[in-house]
Amino acid sequence: MWPGNAWRAALFWVPRGRRAQSALAQLRGILEGELEGIRGAGTWKSERVITSRQGPHIRVDGVSGGPGTVIFPGLPLPHLSCCIHLLSFTSGILNFCANNYLGLSSHPEVIQAGLQALEQFGAGLSSVRFICGTQSIHKNLEAKIARFHQREDAILYPSCFDANAGLFEALLTPEDAVLSDELNHASIIDGIRLCKAHKYRYRHLDMADLEAKLQEAQKHRLRLVATDGAFSMDGDIAPLQEICRLASRYGALVFVDECHATGFLGPTGRGTDELLGVMDQVTIINSTLGKALGGASGGYTTGPGPLVSLLRQRARPYLFSNSLPPAVVGCASKALDLLMGSNTIVQSMAAKTQRCDSQQGRLGGGETWFRSKMEAAGFTISGASHPICPVMLGDARLASRMADDMLKRGIFVIGFSYPVVPKGKARIRVQISAMHSKEDIDRCVEAFVEVGRLHGALP
Ligand code: PLP
Repeated sequence: MWPGNAWRAALFWVPRGRRAQSALAQLRGILEGELEGIRGAGTWKSERVITSRQGPHIRVDGVSGGPGTVIFPGLPLPHLSCCIHLLSFTSGILNFCANNYLGLSSHPEVIQAGLQALEQFGAGLSSVRFICGTQSIHKNLEAKIARFHQREDAILYPSCFDANAGLFEALLTPEDAVLSDELNHASIIDGIRLCKAHKYRYRHLDMADLEAKLQEAQKHRLRLVATDGAFSMDGDIAPLQEICRLASRYGALVFVDECHATGFLGPTGRGTDELLGVMDQVTIINSTLGKALGGASGGYTTGPGPLVSLLRQRARPYLFSNSLPPAVVGCASKALDLLMGSNTIVQSMAAKTQRCDSQQGRLGGGETWFRSKMEAAGFTISGASHPICPVMLGDARLASRMADDMLKRGIFVIGFSYPVVPKGKARIRVQISAMHSKEDIDRCVEAFVEVGRLHGALP
């Protein structure tokens, strides 16, 4: 007689290799089903391949375009030779979807600083910061970031996604509460998920709802209100004055993610807190080096000294991920030098995105050239006062097809659909850069009108 278990094992015995194969076949079936579902929903995201440097005029694999020009705002004359050099990298494809708000991603001085740091400090550190991954340039950049934001200290991360992943878990305990705008960036949402604090979600920009949630949260030790400064998918700006007023009334701290504000919002580009006059009331700022500040990568937290010290002890993406490569540090550091040395670049951005609404007597009313022309043509543009101008279309397939047809007309834009934006709220997100000329913007609007009519998005 065989023992019971042995009988069962003999009955279900399959050679180990075949079992692994059938598990793989099962996985393939599941994955194909998932992928088919995404294709069927019209929310498939593909990558277009750029074959030039990042900029307002780019080359795109498989798409032809004529030559274009690049002029860096505020660049002194000796650098004109660099501009001429750049001409060979440009083409007639107009890029309207980069976070390269100030055009610094391919700025000759930024590139030169990256090369110099690479030469002097090597390709990388092969280490996290606290083991043997801290060089003088990392410390200098942290000090520069703190100075730029007028905060006590700063800590670098490999990305702002990491800064958001590291902050909440390190700072908040089950005794505390975090109150988060429902449309905050995915990385804030994920960061909050990782912490054990009580979680409150208030309706987007709804101050009455935030106040109600703050009242509920009075029982907790600390209350932290968390918001994007500028919302990346909608192009709207958090009412920071009102948020800070409520925070002060209910004894809460304010955290702002400034990824879509650092470098260009506010009179000297410090961000949303400067724009709205509350720099002294926002406690913690997280932001990125991967957008306006040269566009390479990296993120940071800046705020009170003891908080930054605690993050160096506890924040997991800081403790367990490689330090920023020297070239990346060199580029970001130069971008900050350019912004801190002169206001010309920031002002060129403000001039490009804002116009004087003389009819209503408002100066810098915040409506963009692009916005007003598109709205006059019949499109709905979300947000206000920000170079992110989402053209709201609703249907994912429509957004994707329109973006494809825009590219045929030499305009590089991308359709955004679920899960990047909510279902049924697909859009094409247009981003204006300081490097776009008025003619570039006009060309983009003309193409939108043509393609919109073609697809029935406009009458
Ligand atoms: N926060 C916001 C609001 C963002 O838009 C992004 C990037 O898209 C991030 C955080 C993440 O930044 P990074 O690219 O540095 O990880």
